[in-house]
Amino acid sequence: RIIMGIETSCDETGVGLARLFEDGADDAAEPRVELLADEVASSVELHARYGGVVPEVASRAHLEAMAPTTRRALATAGLSLSDVDAIAVTAGPGLAGSLLVGVAAAKAYAAALDVPLYGVNHLAGHVAVDTLEHGPLPKPCLALLVSGGHTQLLRVDDVATKITELGSTVDDAAGEAYDKVARIVGLPYPGGPPIDKAAKEGDPEAIAFPRGMTGPRDAPFDFSFSGLKTAVARWIEAAERQSEPIPVPDVCASFQEAVADVLTMKAVAAAREYGIGTMVISGGVAANSRLSALARERCEAAGIELRVPRPRLCTDNGAMIAALGAHVVAADLPTSPLDFSATPALPVSTVTVR
Ligand code: ATP
Ligand code: MG
Ligand code: FE
Repeated sequence: RIIMGIETSCDETGVGLARLFEDGADDAAEPRVELLADEVASSVELHARYGGVVPEVASRAHLEAMAPTTRRALATAGLSLSDVDAIAVTAGPGLAGSLLVGVAAAKAYAAALDVPLYGVNHLAGHVAVDTLEHGPLPKPCLALLVSGGHTQLLRVDDVATKITELGSTVDDAAGEAYDKVARIVGLPYPGGPPIDKAAKEGDPEAIAFPRGMTGPRDAPFDFSFSGLKTAVARWIEAAERQSEPIPVPDVCASFQEAVADVLTMKAVAAAREYGIGTMVISGGVAANSRLSALARERCEAAGIELRVPRPRLCTDNGAMIAALGAHVVAADLPTSPLDFSATPALPVSTVTVR
């Protein structure tokens, strides 16, 4: 069956197509899913001058990009709308006005084509996307989800039906910290890629930035990045007061090291605590070179299999929603009613909305 996935939770309009193989295998076998198309139209340049996503601008951009992006995805896959057997759409979490555009489009397509419609969880999609690249997920697996809006450790018993949050950030998301620190040191938005690049020329041990939430009384699987951001700002202010030149590469490398250190330390500790042998890292920050290198090192030392989807699949896209939709279809879950609504604060434990 062909599943179309629609994603509009933030500033990317994504339409993906995935094929679900049903080779008559026994029910116990994990579904096999293949990527057919992944088209993304981003409005990120429109937000760059504001240093962050402007919701009204994002909604309008989704409205304009929805139909052409859908046409491009179908053309890439060599399919037509009538070939689509089911539709999945991000129901939340995300920006209300952005989510609404995708949900309305998905409902219209589903009604017109008379195919089942599933409102699904964006965060579960970030995990499910890995099956397009690395095949079925072992059960259970641990997911470290690190993006512009979220930083969570998840226990995934079944990506379509059972996801449990083990911990999350108590303040800023990891990507948000990258974006704020970039602004502080004068690098463009979004801050992840330029900091990653600048850090390559710097010394990660030049400045000892704090590791948030790692004290003995802190929740073991929660994160905090706002203190780190403040520490970077203070450090820059102090250097400026002394009229010293700012060693941007060293600041970036030291900041990046602090983020990667805490994320990987806690993820490995959670995998150990729950006896989980596979870790998936996803979300935009998973594209960070230091994070994946350190995770690889520490997972190897701990005997944990590490899976990181290619960067293109880590940031928001429609393929991740098509992939999750395929797993939902394979699990034979009930469809979402045509009157379901976008849910900006949808918890990760709700994989499909009813
Ligand atoms: P959501 O939390 O809803 O998934 P989002 O759209 O902001 O929201 P993504 O598109 O997955 O999330 O990720 C964007 C974030 O990833 C930005 O904060 C960006 O700075 C960060 N990012 C992208 N590339 C890198 C990188 N190489 N290193 C660090 N951070 C990065
Ligand atoms: Mg984005
Ligand atoms: Fe996302």
